[in-house]
Amino acid sequence: MIEFTGVQKYFGRFHVLQDINLTIQHGEVVVIIGPSGSGKSTLLRCINRLEQITEGSLVVNGISLLDKKIDINRFRREIGMVFQHFNLYPHMKVIDNIVLAPVKVLGMTKEKATETAMSYLKRVGIADKADSYPSQLSGGQQQRVAIARGLAMNPKIMLFDEPTSALDPEMIGEVLDVMRSLAHQGMTMVIVTHEMGFAREVADRVIFMDEGRIVEDTASGSFFDNPEEERARAFLSRLI
Ligand code: ADP
Ligand code: MG
Repeated sequence: MIEFTGVQKYFGRFHVLQDINLTIQHGEVVVIIGPSGSGKSTLLRCINRLEQITEGSLVVNGISLLDKKIDINRFRREIGMVFQHFNLYPHMKVIDNIVLAPVKVLGMTKEKATETAMSYLKRVGIADKADSYPSQLSGGQQQRVAIARGLAMNPKIMLFDEPTSALDPEMIGEVLDVMRSLAHQGMTMVIVTHEMGFAREVADRVIFMDEGRIVEDTASGSFFDNPEEERARAFLSRLI
């Protein structure tokens, strides 16, 4: 579903992604960890072409991202992204935040989109907040709205960039619960997170990045029990 082959990415002269080779299958849950500045967000943003790769090949949903002719809006519809800072529209009610893209981009009727939006709000456990504004919700509730908004486009892949890093500790669990149930339903997910308990429990694979490279790519159990690379070991020992 996602295939990086020999990918290089530069910001000017800075070599941010170095020789990335990575294949993610349909239904896989992959967690990316690594120190700040190691290129995790950049790698994630390449997948929906918020960033463009400099060299190599990247194929997502059967589409080569180097192809200049791709319809980028159509391509991005299939990929939901959830950020650290929710990025909800503050002047719109929760329900309108979710309805917007299905109506504008997918051409859904307002009625149908509202019905779909409500079903996703139920799924993330906050149907009662449909008519609230984002500022009236807790951080954990806002992040669940952001996830519902992503799901409402019926994506094939969901990308998460540190979705719980901006949350108070008591709200982290409720967001991870939603992500866990999504994973169990077979969604293809790529998640940057520092939540090691979650990674261990939910991820099929853990990718460890350092200084723009993938240093380790293993089944999550073996990663946590016995990281092969010294850098991964050192990183984990600092977290625990
Ligand atoms: P991480 O998510 O692992 O913390 P990032 O992918 O955000 O790392 O960043 C990797 C490196 O690339 C950092 O050194 C960062 O400063 C740099 N970087 C990120 N985005 C840009 C950009 N748009 N222009 C220049 N440098 C960038
Ligand atoms: Mg980042």
